[in-house]
Amino acid sequence: MKTTIYYYTGTGNSLWAARKLAAELKDTRLASMRRASPEDGIPEAVGLVFPVHIWGLPRRVIDFVNRLPAGKSTYYFALAVNAGQVAATLTQLKKLMKKRGLTLSAGFNFVMPSNYIPWGGPAPAPEQEKQFAAAVKKIKDVAGTISRRETAPVEKGPLWQNLILSGLCYNLTYSKVPKMDKDFWTDDKCNSCAICTSVCPSGNILLSAGKPVWQGRCEQCLACIQWCPLEAIQLGKKTPAYARYHHPEITLSDMLA
Ligand code: SF4
Ligand code: SF4
Repeated sequence: MKTTIYYYTGTGNSLWAARKLAAELKDTRLASMRRASPEDGIPEAVGLVFPVHIWGLPRRVIDFVNRLPAGKSTYYFALAVNAGQVAATLTQLKKLMKKRGLTLSAGFNFVMPSNYIPWGGPAPAPEQEKQFAAAVKKIKDVAGTISRRETAPVEKGPLWQNLILSGLCYNLTYSKVPKMDKDFWTDDKCNSCAICTSVCPSGNILLSAGKPVWQGRCEQCLACIQWCPLEAIQLGKKTPAYARYHHPEITLSDMLA
């Protein structure tokens, strides 16, 4: 395979984007950052596809990049999947990679439906469809750039986003993310199926007396609350009223594969 795309996904948006891009690029292997070992063989081109968390890189992506073999002259590209504010996430990635002696040749902003349930449920279906259609169109353009191994400036938001959202909010919040699971709770619908324990990328959920207990090493991917089949997981006070979201073409089996 000429290209490997490493993806990180909580509710399927990034997995879907990675799959679509792989289909366009051809001769491309997909591997989950949750399980892959980047140290084992780096091909001609490497893609990183991941969600934007709090206007910056999720911890898992940072850890993954820090395990990439240093100084390899590989063509690296990235897709930062977000709900409308990529801010300076790709600039952060470029700098992180540079420290490791790696070059991010191109970085693309991908807007997809929001899965950040503390701020509300998903957008109406017609709006989601528009975003998927725009994403498909962009993936075709991006695939051309990547196939030709072109260099392009990483995409970023306006200055205020980069300074306030990435510069301030991200930096103030990053260290607090693991303990943000203290606001999860389960309601009476929970039937102890344990799906939440399997879908959590960080093994952060254990069942105690048949009910989930969060362990304080959360990544805020929101997979647990979005994939619970009974919608029994809640986050704070408002989520009982909100519908759940995962990408409509991604299944629980895809997440666990
Ligand atoms: S996935 Fe939902 S129903 Fe299943 S154990 Fe977790 S909280 Fe309970
Ligand atoms: S506890 Fe939930 S939100 Fe936190 S990392 Fe696990 S699945 Fe993601």
